[in-house]
Amino acid sequence: MAIDTKNGSNGTAVHASLDFTTFRNIINGKLVSTTQTRHTPNPSTLEPNPEVPIATPQDVDDAVASARAAAKGWAATPLAERQKAVTDFAAALRDNADAFAQMLVREQGKPLAVAQDELNRAAQWLEVQARLPFPEEIVEDSAERVVKTRYVPVGVAVGIVPWNYPVMLACGKIAPALITGNALIVKPSPFTPYCNLKLVELAQAFFPSGVIQALSGDDNLGPWLTANEGVDKVSFTGSTATGKLVMQSCAKTLKRVTLELGGNDPAIIFPDVDIADTAAKTAQFAFLNSGQICVAIKRIYVHSSIYREFLEAFVAVTKSLQVGDGLSEGVFVGPVQNKMQYDRVRGFLDNIQATKATIAYGGATTDHGDAPAVQGLGKGYFVQPTVVDNPPDTSRIVVEEPFGPVVPLLKWDTEEEVIARANNSDAGLGASIWTKDLQCAERVAAQLQAGSVWVNSHLDLRPDATFAGHKKSGIGAEWGVEGLRSYCNPQTITLPKA
Ligand code: NAD
Repeated sequence: MAIDTKNGSNGTAVHASLDFTTFRNIINGKLVSTTQTRHTPNPSTLEPNPEVPIATPQDVDDAVASARAAAKGWAATPLAERQKAVTDFAAALRDNADAFAQMLVREQGKPLAVAQDELNRAAQWLEVQARLPFPEEIVEDSAERVVKTRYVPVGVAVGIVPWNYPVMLACGKIAPALITGNALIVKPSPFTPYCNLKLVELAQAFFPSGVIQALSGDDNLGPWLTANEGVDKVSFTGSTATGKLVMQSCAKTLKRVTLELGGNDPAIIFPDVDIADTAAKTAQFAFLNSGQICVAIKRIYVHSSIYREFLEAFVAVTKSLQVGDGLSEGVFVGPVQNKMQYDRVRGFLDNIQATKATIAYGGATTDHGDAPAVQGLGKGYFVQPTVVDNPPDTSRIVVEEPFGPVVPLLKWDTEEEVIARANNSDAGLGASIWTKDLQCAERVAAQLQAGSVWVNSHLDLRPDATFAGHKKSGIGAEWGVEGLRSYCNPQTITLPKA
């Protein structure tokens, strides 16, 4: 599906249309090829996706130099103009949402409806952040003086994006970086480079050259960017293990760092819930995007008085979730995104079997030579949604984040006990409480160690609310006004009146 991007105010050689067959890096407003290329497989069919560039150290230096050159003029552009450019970019993204969603299914594996929802959210994350008020703060305004704190762009930022929600999470970085007057280099995951490259290609029509660039590469690229002296800030979304490496690397040049890392979200189910309704909702929040969401439900604590009934209802819903290629009608659970992650999820299933925990439903995967096949599925990285029946708290599926469609249900008896067990994790990203008693819900919410807590819902993220991980789920915050500030250095000016 071809659309017009035109040549923007930068007047550079950007493609006249987005064609989704050729993919190049975007450096200083130009589409740049590399000598070496690579591609990923479609995770449903294992058919090859198109070739993408492998950026070199020279490409990194070129992009950083262009970003440094562009950052000055962009910082001097009035806030309202920057906000308008981001809003116009969002409109173009909406105009092209169908083409992006099709590509997203082919590179990420998610069902088309989930891809369309991601595109809608991506545009929303641009639009809403572009409307957030971002005034200077007046600390004192007396007869003698004015003291005010303003927020100055850091300069050049790098956004490192994971493979689970590549478009939305990239837009979650593009919006605050550009609205606050920084230049940004987007680094997609090597597993999902396609939509991110097209996103930045599309953006060229709305921003001066060098303000937003994209580099796709192999595993060397992230470390090259985090080590580069010309980069002032890194906003990273990914695993906790990689987050530690990013922080180590950034420490050498004292870059500003925001880390959005892994989660192990508990959902606490009280005995007064509507069992069928709550089981249906929590199953969807556990298996959406094949469980590959940082804030998916990953541990479900169910009060012992309703445990059996809830488990049966949960299994019935899980059975009804259709597994398959994201482009097939009615599919809810697509493949796991890549072979590495598929093997990791298989490792959890092996561990569940080895420790003789009870699988209430599921456990099958695509046959890659040594596993039982999910009936009727193609060659891809499919894992049947799997429900584990009350495994020990010390088991791997409770302690670690599987990042796949496998979820344990666990029994609890007292409020104090379940709060302690929910908090007994290195992760502190999201959590939810399910009850009709809203006083109880608020009391429990206040005791949970998590950056986002929902009542009778989960995963209800908003671009205008601060999103931040507690404990090893992150450092700093994204989105909302806090997210805008995270791309700035505060500057307090004291001005005498006389
Ligand atoms: P990952 O850590 O493997 O990779 C994330 C990104 O970091 C990729 O772009 C990758 O190329 C890059 N990278 C890898 N090594 C690097 C290095 N040494 N230096 C710089 N960059 C490097 O994560 P993933 O597997 O893509 O994503 C899954 C994880 O991300 C899960 O743990 C999930 O919970 C987490 N996640 C967190 C959030 C959040 O907002 N908190 C959102 C989505 C995903």
